[in-house]
Amino acid sequence: MTLVDAKRYIKQMFDAGARTCILVGGEPSIYPHILQVVEYAANLGIRVKMMSNGRRFAQRSFVQDLKAAGIQNCSISIEGTEAVHDNITMREGSFSQAIRGLENCQLEDIPINSITTVGSYNLENIPDLVNFFQEFGLKRSAFNMCSSQPSGFEEGEDAGIVDLQDYVSLVEDIGLAYDFVSFYALVPLCLFDQDKLRELIELRRLIVSCALFARAVTVDPEGNLLPCTHMAGLSYGNLNEPEAIENFLAKKECDRTVLRTHAPSEKCVDCKLWNTCFGGCNLIWFSRSAQDHIRGVA
Ligand code: SF4
Repeated sequence: MTLVDAKRYIKQMFDAGARTCILVGGEPSIYPHILQVVEYAANLGIRVKMMSNGRRFAQRSFVQDLKAAGIQNCSISIEGTEAVHDNITMREGSFSQAIRGLENCQLEDIPINSITTVGSYNLENIPDLVNFFQEFGLKRSAFNMCSSQPSGFEEGEDAGIVDLQDYVSLVEDIGLAYDFVSFYALVPLCLFDQDKLRELIELRRLIVSCALFARAVTVDPEGNLLPCTHMAGLSYGNLNEPEAIENFLAKKECDRTVLRTHAPSEKCVDCKLWNTCFGGCNLIWFSRSAQDHIRGVA
C-alpha cells in the first residue's frame, strides 16, 4: 500500500465516522511509512492503536517516534514463555525483543497489553506465561483462540487448533484466578460451567463479541473491505469503488440477519444464550462439526 493510498483510505473511513484505527499485519511496524500513517490519522482525531510482534519495539527510539506521532495503545504478541515463543515464531531472540518492546512502551507511558493466540502448541504453557506476565507487571493480557493454521507447522501436521473444551477449561481456570487477563469467547457458551460463565462475563474476563456484530471494518492493503480481520480474501467491496462503505455495511447487516436466524445446531434454537452466543464464532465450524460440539443449555 502506498502512503498516498493509506492516507486516502484513512480519510475515507474518518469521513464515514471511524474514530479508532487499529493497525494490524502482516507486521505493521515494518511498513516503511508507519510513522507518517500514525501521525496522519492522529492529527485527524483518530485514536490509533497497533498490534505488533513487538520486535521493532525493542528499539527505544522507534517507540519514542511512535509516541511522538500520536500512537495511543500497543498490543504485542507473546505466544508463550521464551523457548515456546521463539519456537512458534521460528526466530531465536524474538521473545527478548518483544519483552524489551513492552518495557519500552512502559517507559514511554504508552498503554500496552499482550495478546496471545492459544493453540494446541502452547496450551500447556499458558499458566507459566500468565505467571510471567504477573511478575512482569502487565496491566492487561488478552487471549484469543487459534482457529486456523498458524505459521510454524508443515501442511498435514497438527494445525494447532485447540480442543474447544480444553480452551473452555483454560478460560475458567485462568480467567477466574487473574484480574488482568481477558479471553475472547469464540466458542459455544454452553461448553462453560454456567455459574463460572456468569462470573467471567461479570468480571469482564470473557469478551463475548463478534466483528460481524460490531460496526468494524477491516481494510486490506488493496483497499478491500473485509467483515473481520480473520476473513482475508472475503471482500465486501473496495474503497476505490463508489459507495463502498455503504455497500459494505449493508452486506454486513445481511450477514448479521443470517447469523441471527440460522443456528449451527438445533440445540441453539431454543437456547436462552442464543442472543449472546449465536453459536460461537462461525469460523470454528469450518474445521469442526457443530453437531458434535454444541451441548446446548435448557
Ligand atoms: S446458542 Fe447454541 S452454541 Fe450457544 S450456548 Fe446456546 S446451544 Fe450452545
